[in-house]
Amino acid sequence: MSKIDYLRISLIDRCNFRCLYCMPEGEELSYILKQNILTNHELINLLQFVFIPLGFTKFRLTGGEPLLRPGVIDLVRAIASLPETQDLAITTNGYHLPEMAQPLYDAGLRRLNISLDSLDGEKFDRIIGNRGRSNWARTWQGIQTAYEVGFNPLKLNVVVIPGINDSEVEDLASLTIDKSWHVRFIEFMPIGNLDLFNEKAWIPSEEIRRIIRERWGLKEGQVKGNGPADVFQIPGAKGTLGFISQMSECFCERCNRLRLSADGWLRPCLLNETGQIDLKTSLREGVSLSTLKEQVRELIAQKESINFKLRDSGTNSQDYSRTMSQIGG
Ligand code: SAM
Ligand code: SF4
Repeated sequence: MSKIDYLRISLIDRCNFRCLYCMPEGEELSYILKQNILTNHELINLLQFVFIPLGFTKFRLTGGEPLLRPGVIDLVRAIASLPETQDLAITTNGYHLPEMAQPLYDAGLRRLNISLDSLDGEKFDRIIGNRGRSNWARTWQGIQTAYEVGFNPLKLNVVVIPGINDSEVEDLASLTIDKSWHVRFIEFMPIGNLDLFNEKAWIPSEEIRRIIRERWGLKEGQVKGNGPADVFQIPGAKGTLGFISQMSECFCERCNRLRLSADGWLRPCLLNETGQIDLKTSLREGVSLSTLKEQVRELIAQKESINFKLRDSGTNSQDYSRTMSQIGG
């Protein structure tokens, strides 16, 4: 089993988008009450006295939309300045990057993943729930600003949905030709929107690679990061392509992460709630950080047996009580 040294931290379960594969319109979502969200101080204590002593050195801030969280810049500064932090990244929808990319960089952040499912403004608005206008333009501006500010590697996440954005695979892949961007194609998972999943299904990474290979050819590549992506490159391109194939390949053996929800639940596996620990309640009831550390150590020891083998399971998203935005995707 891989060394477990990577923590994905959800900062907030709310979002300014409602992507149709994550938070579909019309679906009743219950949000975490503000007072139940771990504070910056609680988070830093947990990192310093629970996770770092257990060997965690890599952290990703996600959500919901992490840039909506008040105090996110201060939190980034605090985590980046912990001497043990080897890697700190944020996954964002990019909407707030035009004004936040520079302050995030100044606070010590060096890695960003930005979701970008389409290069077509109208389609983009449809995918993200058509909230307001110029969302695509703002997100695109956010990507440009992040690149200019110096984020490297700049990663763009694409969830490929048949009949919705699969026709854009080549256009999205071509973004890596002239710029050192890393475009990652993610297989649509049956979590968050089962109706859409049942209607549209998902496209295996191999099929996406075939489309790209037929157009330009494809060779193996390399990129810095902690992810489960298989990395390739269009010959001669400056950037790289990643494929996250959690549906077609089970990479549980390579899983090196735990997830902490915004309300302090620590879960060993994205798709399995077994073994979760409610760190926030324990913390607020006065359980010592050293006791929590032992509980987390125990959870890590059990992780391999808890990991959920999605492809082998035959189950669907009705079995998961939380969406990606709530768990922290
Ligand atoms: N709001 C940020 C964003 O969109 O990048 C961070 C949170 S979002 C939940 C994290 C990632 O989960 C995004 O890249 C999103 O595309 C992905 N995601 C959400 N629902 C998904 C699904 N059903 N299948 C595959 N990926 C999904
Ligand atoms: Fe929001 Fe990200 Fe989910 Fe889209 S994928 S609704 S941007 S949390």
